[in-house]
Amino acid sequence: MIKNCYIHIPFCDKICSYCDFCKMYKIDKFIDTYLDALEKEIKSIYKGEVLETIYIGGGTPSSLSINQLKKLFSILSILKKDDNTEYTIENNFENIAREKLELYKEVGINRLSFGIETTNKNHLKLLERDIDLDKVVNTISTCRELGFNNINVDLIYALPRESIKDLEKDLEYIYSLDVEHISTYSLIIEDHTKLKIRGTKNISEDLDYDMYKYICDSMKKHNYKHYEISNFSKEGYESKHNTCYWDNSNYYGFGLGASSYIDNMRITNTRSLNNYCDGKYVKEVEYLNDEDKMEYEVILNLRKSNGIDLDMFKSKYNKSLIDVYDYKELVNLGLLVLENNHLYIPCDKWYISNSIIVDVLEKKIYG
Ligand code: SF4
Repeated sequence: MIKNCYIHIPFCDKICSYCDFCKMYKIDKFIDTYLDALEKEIKSIYKGEVLETIYIGGGTPSSLSINQLKKLFSILSILKKDDNTEYTIENNFENIAREKLELYKEVGINRLSFGIETTNKNHLKLLERDIDLDKVVNTISTCRELGFNNINVDLIYALPRESIKDLEKDLEYIYSLDVEHISTYSLIIEDHTKLKIRGTKNISEDLDYDMYKYICDSMKKHNYKHYEISNFSKEGYESKHNTCYWDNSNYYGFGLGASSYIDNMRITNTRSLNNYCDGKYVKEVEYLNDEDKMEYEVILNLRKSNGIDLDMFKSKYNKSLIDVYDYKELVNLGLLVLENNHLYIPCDKWYISNSIIVDVLEKKIYG
């Protein structure tokens, strides 16, 4: 039974220098065709389950005009929800307006995600992003007035020439908005981005670590719970949608470049608009056996503060985790904690979580 659904809207008003997501300039004549193709894809795959989460991401969904958004929501009305469904849409402060927020309310959106990234003028210039801080405050206040009580903002840190002082200012600004959820991203200069082409370099690993540690300590002081390596929330406002990925649950992914995890298949859609609009949605399919699934379970679950639920693991795979990966030594070394039948990475080791996860996978018992 699939309970989660991601929808990708690839259009943006402008292209940020660090972006390697599946996105393109917003050109109105493509949008209608794209939405028609999206409708066909959903209708050909969705089985009518009541969904626990729906997440509209991008790109920038809020770059669509009000009429394009109305068309999108009319297409998405086929997706079944109930009173508990978490229904999120990503937005950019530069192209959101009261009219769009009112439409969101009307169609049942109950979680909003906004990219702030940074407030520092030099860093915004480097990232090729704009942000009007007065507009941010006014928009958040309009959201509250309309009754939205679950808001996320994104922060990017580890920017070239960024200091801890700069980071502190960004965080103080974000705290002043009093949002329920904060996602943080350490800037990684990906291939084929404008930053990479210009030869921009990542900051040193030591400074990256200091910044991560600063964020973790600061969030704690401000009562944000650190529930996943890079995500923080007020109590009870963890992202249910993203948690479905870290729980290794099944999900639909519709739209250009979207990924799905359905039964034993991880499916990645094409990034070619032509192919997508011609109904050739899928680019590749990874078929998973139980061993692959258990590996994903470890990789994804260990990103969360509560780690792997050992009872859940056993009920899913009919095997105890310890019979698949001999993790005892890692517990003895303090790299993992075993508590209340959960196995997790202690938060002071999250910065090296990737290497701990590799260590667990290397403890695989063959036979
Ligand atoms: S970072 Fe977001 S807003 Fe910027 S180009 Fe990429 S998808 Fe668009």
